[in-house]
Order: sequence, then structure tokens, then C-alpha cells
Amino acid sequence: MSCSPEELKKRSDAVASKWQSFQDLPATDHLLEFAVSVSSFTEFLHGKGLSGLHQISRNLEQQAMSLFEVDTGGAVPQTTLVELNLRVRELGMRVADFIDSNSRPIVERRAHPDSSAAMDITPRHRVWLVGNQAAPWQELVLQLGYFSIDAEFHKTQELPSHADEPAIVLLDAEGLTTQQVSIEIQQLRARFSASTLLVARLPIDFDSLKSALTAGCDFCFTHTSAPSGILAKIIELCGNQEEAPYRALVVEDSPTASKSIQRTLAMCGIETHAISKPHEVLECLTRFQPDLILMDMFMPGCTGVEAARVIRQHPEFLSTPIVYLSGDTDVPMQIEALRLGGDHFLTKPFNPVVLNAIVQSKIERYRALRRAMQHDSLTGLLNHIASKEKLAAAIQQAVAEQQPLSVAMIDIDHFKKINDSYGHQTGDQVIRSVAWFLKQRLRKTDLIGRYGGEEFLLLLPAADADLATEILDRIRRDFSLIKHPFNETWFSATFSAGLAQLQDQASAETLIKQADEALYGAKRAGRNRIVRWE
Ligand code: GH3
Ligand code: MG
Ligand code: MG
Ligand code: MG
Repeated sequence: MSCSPEELKKRSDAVASKWQSFQDLPATDHLLEFAVSVSSFTEFLHGKGLSGLHQISRNLEQQAMSLFEVDTGGAVPQTTLVELNLRVRELGMRVADFIDSNSRPIVERRAHPDSSAAMDITPRHRVWLVGNQAAPWQELVLQLGYFSIDAEFHKTQELPSHADEPAIVLLDAEGLTTQQVSIEIQQLRARFSASTLLVARLPIDFDSLKSALTAGCDFCFTHTSAPSGILAKIIELCGNQEEAPYRALVVEDSPTASKSIQRTLAMCGIETHAISKPHEVLECLTRFQPDLILMDMFMPGCTGVEAARVIRQHPEFLSTPIVYLSGDTDVPMQIEALRLGGDHFLTKPFNPVVLNAIVQSKIERYRALRRAMQHDSLTGLLNHIASKEKLAAAIQQAVAEQQPLSVAMIDIDHFKKINDSYGHQTGDQVIRSVAWFLKQRLRKTDLIGRYGGEEFLLLLPAADADLATEILDRIRRDFSLIKHPFNETWFSATFSAGLAQLQDQASAETLIKQADEALYGAKRAGRNRIVRWE
């Protein structure tokens, strides 16, 4: 999730320049361009996890958008202009300050060591725990250490004054009044432009949460939140699982309209692919795997509704959102089109801010739905069915690209004993820690599924059995060193794994069976080891 200071500055300058154009010539077009640039900047900051700047930009975006809601007769009231001007300047200054105090070189491993310095501005995986007592946080600091996250405790009144921003600041609300919490958060927010702000040990009432969120905190934990929840959130925020860019497929016979849509969506970082012939849509859906389809209503030989009905015959595209584009405002026709498999209707010419907002919100919901359907709630990993589906797809891809593919089946050793000795809840916690550990250590391109209760299926594309053994063995060894807390003591746990490399276009079932057999071999040979299928 790295971001260079140049990129951040360029995007921030774009907002300032659009604002200047609007001030020079207060036309609706210029206002629109300014709103689109703020919206695009907000999305960018969100994607980079620059939480404080994101909040400022989002507020500016909301204020800019509200100007389109009321009919101002073309004129923006003077007081609003003054306020917007202040906010644009504040955003620019916060960005500049942030760049000044946080630019640092990152050393890239390139072939030529002297061409190696690039700049990075996104916070490192460092966590500050801020409060009045260190003792309650010792356990969390230790646990985070196992996941290679540095956490340090600082007294509220003694924060180091010169230091890079940590990725996360967690405020301990214990002993503070609602108002004191709010003031502390505002002060932290004013100092940290990028860090994600968490508050822990808040009272559970509505007002305490509302006040903390309004003051600028990103996530709240109360007295009743389990410590494992805080750990999970921090690990998630530090995760290397960067979300893939949103993708939209444009089905539109007019090249001009198509280009204009693609340009608009690109401003918010949405990837697009455009086709002009509706009968290519199925093949394109399979290949491009979009999160949404923008469908022209009228095309030669086929209407958008007819194309949508064909798409909906395929179960894998049943929930992909379809947004129709039409020059027509015929309401009965729109209702009929929505009945027959569409999700939304936009009338051409569309407002670019509205188009982006609708496409983004539809994709966000779609991804959340898909996540819930494909992922296991205890660990956040792919569930049994989804991992098998992904394996079939990974085999196809490996064969097509003539790349190796390794598959591993992992099973926690003597897990019944862990449940019996420490209870089912602690057992669940061990399952979660294996999941987090795998997520942390594996590459972004690897896939991890929870295949059964305490069994995990791993797919390692582009890794042969030698490389996969090396990677897994290191993870196995490091996992066995983790001290899992239980009451005042701790215990350790291990896992075994069986590994198989794809040979001769074997099926998913065959590969799983081979990995399973190898796992059985690892158990028989004494556990806490990796065995390859022979
Ligand atoms: P081995 O080393 O041979 O794998 O021994 P084991 O005790 O781990 O044996 P096995 O893998 O067969 O045990 C699985 C146990 O895991 C049985 C079940 O009670 C427990 N289990 C399955 N799912 C869950 C879960 O979601 N949470 C918890 N806490 N326990 C689970
Ligand atoms: Mg058309
Ligand atoms: Mg098992
Ligand atoms: Mg087991």
C-alpha cells in the first residue's frame, strides 16, 4: 500500500487547481469538475489508508456534493464559497505538512543498487498504544510481535514529539469522561494525518460511541469487546491484502459515449473494459470478471434488457450489478427493465459525480455480499466451497500459463487436546491465529481457505514443490514459537502439512487427495513437519 509523496502532491494539487478554475469562472461545469476531483482524491486517500486526510477530504466532498442537491440557480452563496475555500486550503496544508514530516526513502531491491532510493509516505506497520497505564496492554504488544507488528506504549502526556506517523494509534479510554475522550481524539486527529485511530475500553452506551466517532476516531471498542477483536482489527489493518481495483464492463455501441464513461470512471481509479457488440458479453464477463456492468439500453440487434436476461441465465453472474444507460426517461420502460434483471437506471447525459457515486456504491455492496458468501466468519479466509472453486480456476490458469502450482493441506496437531485442556474458545483462537499467520506470511497471489474445522487449504501459484516446502517450513517453524496466552500462562501449538505439485493437468480432486495423503504421512512421521506427495 505504498504511495510516493509526488503522487500524493500531484493529486492534492489537482483538487486545488480545479477549485481555482471554479473561482476564476464560477460555471457549473467547473464546479462539477472540482467535485469529481475531490471525490477521486477521497477515494485515493481511502485506498492508501491515509485516514486523517481521508476524513478531511470526505467532509469537503460532502459539502461540494450538497451544492448539487439544491437548486441554487447557478449561484453558490458567498458564505458557502468562503467556507469551501477554507476547507480546500486546509486540505492542501495538511497534505503538505504530512509530506514534509513523513517522506522517507524505501530501499527497493533492484538489479543496480545505486538506483535504489524511492520515497514512501504510507505509515509503517507500527502501533502506538496511548493511555495512562501500560500494564493492560503488555499482552497485546507481545501478541502483535508474533505478527511482526511493532507496538509501543506511550503515556498520553508524554508522546514523542518527533517521530514518523505510526499506522495505527489506539487510545485507551479507561478512566476518561466522554468529553475527555473526545478532546484526546481531536488532538490525535490534528496531529496524525494518516494513522488509523482506534479507541478501546469505551463505555458501551450510544452517546460515548457517537461522540468518539464524531471526534474523528475510525473504530471503537468498548469494555465488552474481547481483546482478540482488537488484535484481529490491528492485524487486518496491517494486512498485506490490498483490495484489487474496482472493475466495470461497459457495453455500449457508441464509441464516444463509451470513451466518456471510461474516462469518468478512471478518475476514481475504476478499471474498465468496453465492448460494442452485446453478443461478446458472456466471454468478456468470464475473462474480465467485472464487479459491475454498465449496459447501454439501445444497441443494434439487441437491447440492453435482452443482454441482461441472457447474462442472468448464468448462476455465476446472477448477482453482478447491471446499471442501464439510456437517453430515454420513459418510466414504465425503466421499471420493466429493472424487473428483468437490472439494478439501476441512469439517464444520459449523466452527471459524472453521480455516475461514479452509483458505480462505487453498487460495487462496494456487491463485494461485501460476495465476501460474506465466500468467506468463513471465524477466520475471514475462503470457505470450503470457495476454496475448491478457486483451486479449479488456479489449475486452469497454471496449465494455460505453463506455470507450476503447489497445493498444501494443513492440519493443526493434537487439536483435540487443545480444546480439552483450554476450552473450545481458546481452540477457536488458535484456529484464528493460524489463519492470521498464513495471511501475514504468504504472498498476495496465494490463496488460503479454511477447508474444515482446523484444516486449511493453500494454493501457491508459480511455486514448485521445492519453493513451497521452503516457504511452508519457515511458517511452520515460526508458528510453533508463538506463545498462545491462557489465563496467567501460555502454551504452544504446531501444525503439519501435506504438499502436492500439479502434474499432468490433474483435477482439483486429485490434487486435494494427494495433499491429504501427504498430510497423513506427516502425522504418522511424528507431526510438526511438511511432507511432499510422492
Ligand atoms: P491430529 O494431530 O492427528 O490432527 O490430532 P487432532 O486432535 O488435531 O485430530 P483432528 O484433526 O481429527 O481433530 C479435529 C478436532 O478439531 C475435532 C474437533 O473437536 C475440533 N474442531 C473442529 N472444528 C473446530 C472449531 O471450529 N473450533 C474448535 N475449537 N474446535 C474444532
Ligand atoms: Mg446505443
Ligand atoms: Mg483435522
Ligand atoms: Mg488436527
